[in-house]
Amino acid sequence: MKTERLYPSLKKIVWGGQRLIGLYSYGGERLTKQFEENRTPSNIAESWVFSCHKKGRSTVIGGENDGKTLAELLEDAGPETLGTHYRGGEFPILIKFIDAKRDLSIQVHPDDAYAGEHHEGQYGKTECWYVLDAEKDAELIFGLDRELTREELAARGGKKEVMEVLRRVKVKRGDFIFIPSKTLHAICKGIYLAEVQQSSDITYRIYDYDRLDEDGKPREIQVPDAVAVSNLSPMDVSFQPMGKEERSEGYAKTLLTECEYFKVEKIETFGEYRGEADETSFVSLIVTGGEGLYRDADGEIYLREGDSLFIPANKGAFTVRGNAELLKTTI
Ligand code: ZN
Repeated sequence: MKTERLYPSLKKIVWGGQRLIGLYSYGGERLTKQFEENRTPSNIAESWVFSCHKKGRSTVIGGENDGKTLAELLEDAGPETLGTHYRGGEFPILIKFIDAKRDLSIQVHPDDAYAGEHHEGQYGKTECWYVLDAEKDAELIFGLDRELTREELAARGGKKEVMEVLRRVKVKRGDFIFIPSKTLHAICKGIYLAEVQQSSDITYRIYDYDRLDEDGKPREIQVPDAVAVSNLSPMDVSFQPMGKEERSEGYAKTLLTECEYFKVEKIETFGEYRGEADETSFVSLIVTGGEGLYRDADGEIYLREGDSLFIPANKGAFTVRGNAELLKTTI
């Protein structure tokens, strides 16, 4: 199987901004197909750039497989394409860009055990964020400000009083935040980021600022589930990447995180980066800034901001030449 360039599934949500539409307007018909009833799409909240999830699949753009979903492609190619770390079942990860023009609801995701019990066949969700842009004084909500009992969280759930016990943290471009499942969290307005997560769409909202949706109804919240799964202790908010920056000729590499679900590295190229897709895992490369030229034994692919590549396991050596910032994810 060849390396494929992917076009995202775009999500229109009330809190989204205009930024992603600029990145993906080149999609032409592909884009209008996703927004058939709305020919001038706005408020694009998320681009699912690396996804086999049934709620939004990335599709191949260019080449002989143009238009196929990544899921279809992997089904044809077989599980070897995913590598020896793949444990079977659903495709393990989902990668998105998120453009928050307004605050997101306060939410929490279950772990695998709770998800397995309550949502058959689905994963829980551990996720991480790499902040690409943030307005001055932009904030995130991350865990609790103090130790809480489950009773107190339940009493505050669904009400604005829950805001009094949540921790607010200022963020800036370049920050990296690891969010284990069961952590209450929210992205607040003015933040643009890339997210790597387990491939799951289970979210329990505990508070949504009493907002109304497009039909004038309050958006659904799931207080009992949110209370049941939430970690009740405050979390560390130093937000450091796991590794130090390593400089080589032509590029710099920083290990952002390595957990049981994914390993994410940031790569900045200022010449040539040499990478490898070995037998253990496929490689996701997403471009978070700049541009470059990807090359492997099969040929070249031009890359620019917002792009996403699927590189099959065992593909071997590849290079990216240019001035680009990339996130490289493996399982
Ligand atoms: Zn989340």
